[in-house]
Amino acid sequence: MSLVPENVERLIPYVPGKPVEELERELGIQNAVKLASNENPVGPSPKAIDAMRAHASGVHRYPDAATWALRSDLAAFHSRGASAVHMDEIVLGNGSNELIDLICRTYAGPSDHAVIGVPSFVCYHLGLTAANVPFDAVPLREHLFWDLEAMAAKVTAKTKLFFVANPNNPTGTHVGRAAVERLLKELPEQVVVVLDEAYVQFADADDYVSGLELRGLRERLIVLRTFSKAYGLAANRVGYAIGQKDVVSYLNRVRAPFNVNTLAQVAARAALQDPEHVERYVALNRTERARITEALEGLGLRVAPSQANFVFADFGRPNKEVYDRMLRMGVIIRPMPAPVDTWLRITVGRPEENDRLLEAVRELVAS
Ligand code: PMP
Repeated sequence: MSLVPENVERLIPYVPGKPVEELERELGIQNAVKLASNENPVGPSPKAIDAMRAHASGVHRYPDAATWALRSDLAAFHSRGASAVHMDEIVLGNGSNELIDLICRTYAGPSDHAVIGVPSFVCYHLGLTAANVPFDAVPLREHLFWDLEAMAAKVTAKTKLFFVANPNNPTGTHVGRAAVERLLKELPEQVVVVLDEAYVQFADADDYVSGLELRGLRERLIVLRTFSKAYGLAANRVGYAIGQKDVVSYLNRVRAPFNVNTLAQVAARAALQDPEHVERYVALNRTERARITEALEGLGLRVAPSQANFVFADFGRPNKEVYDRMLRMGVIIRPMPAPVDTWLRITVGRPEENDRLLEAVRELVAS
């Protein structure tokens, strides 16, 4: 008899971006730059660092399992806009990744069904497979643009979950207001729509809209946010889900107690108090994203229109080869699997890191 159930046998472990230390160790390269994991390249707010220092001596105590103060701050933060959010409508996770996993286990089971897109964030696929939920993975148009109509056509009476990353990873593309509104209004009532807004702060297209502004359109809507990207707290692992209390409170039944540690909670609270830090990074990202896009296009590469802190580019040759050659030049970027296996995802770094990237791409293209 097999050791694990068939769905676990099918799982392929997540492959993270290569750490700089690993590349330096393996190839003896100095001063490598990592543009592979969509991390904030300028670091967290000094206020978050101070908060972690101030609380370091208290880590012999368990964290606040209810994340009361952080939920309260988040409710206040989100209520500044048009749509008020109550703290009971927020559930914290160990990164939004944990929430994706929890969502798959909480709302669906082996006799239900889900719809996702490809290419998109691989953890929807992993979470659904781990929870043994059957799903349809619908290709994006040209592998780049969300096709919500084709996805909606896969919805059946069994469909419980429908994941859309907006903006999307790895393509950086977004889906506009009209399509999101139609989706929220027209999908059958039983479907929980998950709008993953990990990159929301970087989106500046005129027709971009956050699901938080459209909460009135659908009862079963969950919006995911994270402190890993714009806030620069990836190592702290803090993400959150916002949805109606009756919907998201089920996540509290399934999640492990103390899933968000004390230093993560205090750092996130402090980061919320430093919006200027985020604004500076978002502005830098906008300028550098445009500069990288233009330079890569100038070298003959196709670049998807990005609303995120990374760009997705077609190098027109096998991306494993591009990845290896870039590694040897000390630049870590991220190849993606088929059907986009000539494409690589490049995180927007600091200006000097982006210079290194463009230098390396120029050399690669010239050879
Ligand atoms: N959603 C998307 C679309 C992502 O790209 C990522 C990170 N790569 C996550 C969720 C997970 O982020 P975290 O767990 O760090 O919050």
